Amino acid sequence: MAGIAQVSGADTPLFTKLKLPNGVEYEQPLGLFINNEFTVGKANKAFEVHSPSTGKLITNVHEAQAADVDIAVDAATRAFEEGPWSKLPPSERGVLLNKLADLFEQNVTTLASIEALDNGKAIQLARGDIAGCIGCFRYYAGWADKIHGKVMDVSSDTFCYTKQEPIGVCGQIIPWNFPLLMFAWKIGPAIAAGNTVVMKPAEQTPLGALFVATLIKEAGFPPGVINILPGFGRDAGDAIAHHMKVKKIAFTGSTLVGRTIMKAAAESNLKKVTLELGGKSPNIVFDDVDIDRAVEWINFGIYYNSGEVCSAGSRVYVQEGIYDKVVAAFKKRASANVVGNPFDENTFQGAQVSKVQHERILNYIDIGRKEGATVEVGGEAHGTEGYFIKPTILSNVGLNARVMQEEIFGPVCTIAKFTDIDDVIKQGNGTNYGLASAVHTKSLNTAIEVANRLKAGTVWVNCYNSFHAALPFGGYGESGIGRELGKEALKNYTQVKTVNINLA
Ligand code: ADP
Ligand code: MG
Repeated sequence: MAGIAQVSGADTPLFTKLKLPNGVEYEQPLGLFINNEFTVGKANKAFEVHSPSTGKLITNVHEAQAADVDIAVDAATRAFEEGPWSKLPPSERGVLLNKLADLFEQNVTTLASIEALDNGKAIQLARGDIAGCIGCFRYYAGWADKIHGKVMDVSSDTFCYTKQEPIGVCGQIIPWNFPLLMFAWKIGPAIAAGNTVVMKPAEQTPLGALFVATLIKEAGFPPGVINILPGFGRDAGDAIAHHMKVKKIAFTGSTLVGRTIMKAAAESNLKKVTLELGGKSPNIVFDDVDIDRAVEWINFGIYYNSGEVCSAGSRVYVQEGIYDKVVAAFKKRASANVVGNPFDENTFQGAQVSKVQHERILNYIDIGRKEGATVEVGGEAHGTEGYFIKPTILSNVGLNARVMQEEIFGPVCTIAKFTDIDDVIKQGNGTNYGLASAVHTKSLNTAIEVANRLKAGTVWVNCYNSFHAALPFGGYGESGIGRELGKEALKNYTQVKTVNINLA
C-alpha cells in the first residue's frame, strides 16, 4: 500500500538475524508460513518493513499474493478435512494452545521487543500485549473441550440434538496497531473450536506473526492448521476475502475496508463475516468525580498505544461545573506523558506506525484548526526522526465537525462540555460508530443509567481500555459485526448442526 515499497524477492533470504536497540538478538523468519514451513512467494516479490521510531528499513519480507493464498488455503483445507487435526480430540487443541502460551511466556522479551521495533509502540505497553496474548490463549485453551451441543426433547418418538461444529478454513486479516494481540484474539477461538486458519498480518507489521510461526511449529500444531501470509491488503487480503474455500472471514481494521470485505464475501461464497472496525468513543466525566483519578483515565483512554486503538476514548465530555478544572488538569497530565524511543523503559507513547499515519494525523489536526478548534496542547510532530506526535487536545469542536465524527487513530482527542445526562447521551451517541465508551462518576445510578443509554459494545465505568479474554468486545453501528473474546467469540467459529432421529 501507499508508502510501503515492493522489491524483488531474489535478494531476501528466508531468515535473518536481527539485533534490536535493547540488545535482544533473534532469528527473524522472512518467508510465507504454509504447512509449517517458510517459503518464498510464487511471484518472488518482497516488501520493505520499516521501523516507525527511526523511519529506517529493518528488513524485507517475502510477499504473498493470490497464488500463494490458493496454496495456503489448500493446505488449511487438507488439515481441516483429512490431517491429524481433523481427528484430534478437542482437549488436545486446548493442550496445543496452552503450549503456545508457554512459549509466549518463555519469549516475552523477544516478542515485546519485536512489537516495539515493528509497530513503534512503547516496550512497557508491548509487554502488556504479550501478557494479553497469553491470557487469550489460555482462556480459549480452557474452552476447547467445553464446546457442547444440546439435546432437545421434542416428542416421545424422536431423539434430537445439536452439535457445535467448526466451520472450516477461516481467513483472518488483522491490523498493525496490536500485531500480536489481534493475532491471539483471532487464533484463540478459531483453534479452540477446531478450525484451520489462513492469517494475513498487516503489511506494516508482519514481523511478530512470522516469529510466532516458529513457536506454532514448536508447540506441535500439525502442518496446515495455522498458515501466515505476509502481504498487502489489496492483493493477498482481497484474495482471502474472495476465496471460495475460505468459509469464514474475520477482519479487524478500518470501516472502509470492512465494507469491501463484506462485499467480497457476498460476491464469492457467502463466507461468514465478522468485523471489528473503527470507533469514536465517548469518555464521559461527571462533576462528582475525583478529578485527578478521572484525568488519569481520560489520559490513558486516548494516549494508550499512541492513540492507535479502535476503542480509544477520542471524545472527552466533561460536565460543565468542572470543565475548566478538568481541561487544566488534563493539559498538564497530557504534557507529562513521556513520548519517544519505544525501547526506553520510561516511554509511555512511542511512534505512530508509519509515515502515512503520521501525515494523516497531522492533517486531521489541521482540519480541526480550520474547523475552529482550539489546540489546548500538542498539535504537532514530536522530534524530527521517526513518526512521533505530541499528545493533542482539541477544544471548541462542534458535534458535526470532522474531528468529532471521524476516527483519527492517533494521540488526538476532543474535549467538550455537557450539562446533564440527556445532553451527554445525545452528544455521546452522536456518531455512526459504537465500539466503546466510558463514564466516570461516583453515582451508581448515573453510571447505570448512562451505561444503559449509550449505544456501544463496551461501557467502562471509572476505567478505560480495560480488557480481559473473558469479556466480549465488539461494535454497535458501523463499528462492526460480531464479538471477539469471551464465549461470544466461539459463536463466530462454530456452526450448529441439528440431528433429528425418528425412533418410531
Ligand atoms: P489502515 O488503513 O488503518 O492501515 P486497513 O483497514 O487498511 O487499516 O488494514 C487492516 C488490514 O486489512 C491489513 O491487514 C490490510 O492489509 C488489510 N486490507 C486492506 N485492504 C484490504 C482489502 N481490500 N481486502 C482485504 N484486506 C485488506
Ligand atoms: Mg513497521
